[in-house]
Amino acid sequence: MNVRFLPLILLVLCTGGAQAQELNTKNVFLITLDGLRWQEFYSGADSLLLHDERWVDEVDALSERFWADSAVERRARLMPFFWSTVAEHGQLYGNRSYGNLVDVSNKHVFSYPGYNEILTGFADEAIDSNAKRPNPNVTLLEWINTQEGFDGLVAAFGSWDVFPYIINEDRSGIVVNAGFEAAEGDISAREAFLNVLQEQTPSPWSTVRLDVFTHHFAKEYLIRERPRLLYIAYGETDDFAHDAEYDSYLESAHRTDAFIEDLWNWVQADDAYRDRTSFVITTDHGRGFKDEWVGHGADWEGSNHIWIAVLGPDSSGLGEVRDTAQLYQNQVAATVVRLLGFEYGNRVAVGPPIESALR
Ligand SMILES: [Zn+2]
Repeated sequence: MNVRFLPLILLVLCTGGAQAQELNTKNVFLITLDGLRWQEFYSGADSLLLHDERWVDEVDALSERFWADSAVERRARLMPFFWSTVAEHGQLYGNRSYGNLVDVSNKHVFSYPGYNEILTGFADEAIDSNAKRPNPNVTLLEWINTQEGFDGLVAAFGSWDVFPYIINEDRSGIVVNAGFEAAEGDISAREAFLNVLQEQTPSPWSTVRLDVFTHHFAKEYLIRERPRLLYIAYGETDDFAHDAEYDSYLESAHRTDAFIEDLWNWVQADDAYRDRTSFVITTDHGRGFKDEWVGHGADWEGSNHIWIAVLGPDSSGLGEVRDTAQLYQNQVAATVVRLLGFEYGNRVAVGPPIESALR
């Protein structure tokens, strides 16, 4: 060997090895928006629904906010953070117009089966209802919480009151704040005030709180406890859709986009989280088309069509992915686990990581 090149070869080997094993991501925020359709995510307000007084109280006012002639303009109006920062620096999967498909693999296509698939990496057909039954399966949250460096640094916040069961709070020991639960522990003055507001604010639903509470409880916890794996499950979009309120459904998608931007801005302003935190964002299920947009499930065509977005230091800025491809909801868990530097090992039924999200 020509010794003149030896230092160069060693350098290449060392950096190559480090890159193969070591990612920049030290923290992951897994975020879901319940039942937000790929149609709105990729094309903004749907002309078939926005102009229809069955679904919208004030068509002119809503059109003023969210209508534009092109889908590219409409989606940027609806979810400006996704179609600026995420589109520029992250990755967006599931625009079926280009043949980039993301599907739910469970057959039920409603919430508990979907969240189980997202959080465990496999479809369990035995989970066939939204009943408050403790999940027999171990979620990635529970698994990561047992790994070195993560004990007590995993937390979940959700608007729906079934999350303590989906995550099996009792067995997993993970902090879960969901439904109408108050903040507990060594809480800040802001959390104490949120507790009061939550009690005094009328809620449209008995099992799902407004997302503003979930968001701010999660953010205050983030500031106070600095978790490394944080799951936030926003819920409003699905409930406004079931209520056949397309205006409220769009407004909710728009607000949630701003919540996620708020989290990203906090992360990028914090020395320990900046450039070391990945966001993985998806939905538990799609919905029907046209008049069927209000519902979802095995009998509602299109309910298995979803989307996934990734933003972080280990995911190149592919933007809207237009390659013909097929991804599944069961790949989210392994992607999160891999971003945190782990492998699921011999869990054979788990969907593989999304490889393109890891380079
Ligand atoms: Zn639903």
